[in-house]
Amino acid sequence: MTFERDARTALADGQLRGALRQATTLFGERRRAALSTVPDWEGARDRARAIKDETLEHLDRYLEQFAANAERAGARVHWARDAAEACDLIGAIAERRGARTVVKSKSMATEEIHLNAALARRHIEPVETDLGEYIVQLAGETPSHIVVPAIHKTKAQIAALFADKLGIVPSDDVATLTAAARAALRGSFAEADLGISGVNFAVAETGTILILENEGNARLTTSLPRTHVALMGIEKVIPRFADLDVFLQLLPRSGTGQVLTAYQSLLTGTKRTPEDEGPEELHIVLLDNGRSRMLASAVTRQALACIRCGACLNACPVYRQIGGHAYGSVYPGPIGAVLTPQLLGMGESSALPYASSLCGACRDVCPVKIDIPAVLLHLRAQAVARSGGAGTHRLLERFAFWAYAAVMARPRLFEWVMRCARTLHILPPLGAWTKWRDLRPLAPRSFREEWRRGLRHEGAE
Ligand code: SF4
Repeated sequence: MTFERDARTALADGQLRGALRQATTLFGERRRAALSTVPDWEGARDRARAIKDETLEHLDRYLEQFAANAERAGARVHWARDAAEACDLIGAIAERRGARTVVKSKSMATEEIHLNAALARRHIEPVETDLGEYIVQLAGETPSHIVVPAIHKTKAQIAALFADKLGIVPSDDVATLTAAARAALRGSFAEADLGISGVNFAVAETGTILILENEGNARLTTSLPRTHVALMGIEKVIPRFADLDVFLQLLPRSGTGQVLTAYQSLLTGTKRTPEDEGPEELHIVLLDNGRSRMLASAVTRQALACIRCGACLNACPVYRQIGGHAYGSVYPGPIGAVLTPQLLGMGESSALPYASSLCGACRDVCPVKIDIPAVLLHLRAQAVARSGGAGTHRLLERFAFWAYAAVMARPRLFEWVMRCARTLHILPPLGAWTKWRDLRPLAPRSFREEWRRGLRHEGAE
C-alpha cells in the first residue's frame, strides 16, 4: 500500500481538492440542519449504540435467528467465510440461473470482495445502477466515498466521460446527464437475469432486510430480475423490527443530511403469489471476511457498530484534503483507516492508522459513537509492535520525543528554543508540515515574557 505517495499526489490535484471541499462542506451543512429536526439526538445516538453493543455481544444468536426467519419466509441463506467464498457462491448462483448480465445496486460489501472482477472472470457482465457507481464504473475507477462513490469528480469531468462513453452531445446540465444514464441503464434492467444488492439492516426477529436509497434503482434491482442476491456483512443484523426506528432517524441525517431517504425497501423472503412483486428466488449471503476477528477485542469490536453513513469521512480534515483513493481500500476515511488493517491485515495497511490527526471530529459526528481515535491508537500500537519499533521513522520518532521531553523539562532551554523558533519561523525538520497548510505565526512575545514585563511594570509603579 502506498498511502503516503498517493496522498501527496492527491494533495497536488487542485481539481480533486476543489470537488472534495465543495461536496464535504455541503454534506456537513445539510447534516447539521437535519440534526436539529430530532429532539434528542444524543439520546438517539446512545440508543443506537446500545442496540449495536447488545447485538455484537450475542451476534451468533441473532444471526441464527435471522437466518431461520429469512428461510422460513422463502429466502436461502448462505455463509461465506471470506471474499473468495462469497464470490464463488454468488458466481455459482449466477451461472445456475444462466445469467449473462447482472444489475447491481450500491453495495460496499460487493466492493469489499471485488465481486465485479470475479463475475467478469466467469464472463458475466455486472452493471452498476446507482448513478455514482455507474459513473465510477464507466470511468474504470473505484468509489472514493462510501455514500457518494463519485465525490471526486467534477460535473465537467462527468460530462466529458458521458460524451466519450455514451456518445451523447457534451453537456454539463445535470438533468441531461441523468437522463442519458437512465436511458442506458433501462436496457440493462430489461436484460438482467439477476439482481445483486447490499443490505443496510437485517432484522433477526422477522428475517427482513432493509435497503435504503434515493434513486429507485435498488428497488428495480431487487424486484425486476427473477433472482435477487443480497450480500451483507454479519454485523448488519439487529435484533428487533422496532430497532429500525432509531437507525432510520440516524443514518439518512448523518449520511446525506436527509430526514429520510427517498426509498426504503423492506424485503421479507420471496414473492408468494405470481401476482406479487419481487423475485422468485432470494439468496442472502452472510459475509464474515475478518469480522469475527474484530469481535475478539473490546476496542476493535466497536468498529462493527458502523452503519456506513459516511459522516466521519465528510468531517475528517485528512479525507477532506486527499479524498478516498489515496487510502488504497474500498473503505476510505477514518472508518476505512480502522477497518482496512483489520480486514486486510496490518501488513498491507500499516500506514492507515497514522492517516489521522486524532482531532476527534469523526468521533463527534459518528451516529453510533464509535471512538475512532481510540481504535486508531490501538492499531498504531499494533503496527509498532509488529515492526519491533525498528525503521527510520520509528528512530526519528523516538529521537523527537526524547528531544521534546528534554526541552519541556528545562524551562530555560524551552524559552531559548521558542526564541529561535520565532526567528526561524518554523524549525527546518518541521517544514513538511507547513507545505500544505498554514501555521499561525508565533506571538512576538511569549506568555512568560509578557508576565515578567507585567511584574516589572508593577514594580516600577
Ligand atoms: S464510523 Fe460512524 S460516522 Fe463513520 S461511517 Fe461508520 S457510522 Fe458513519
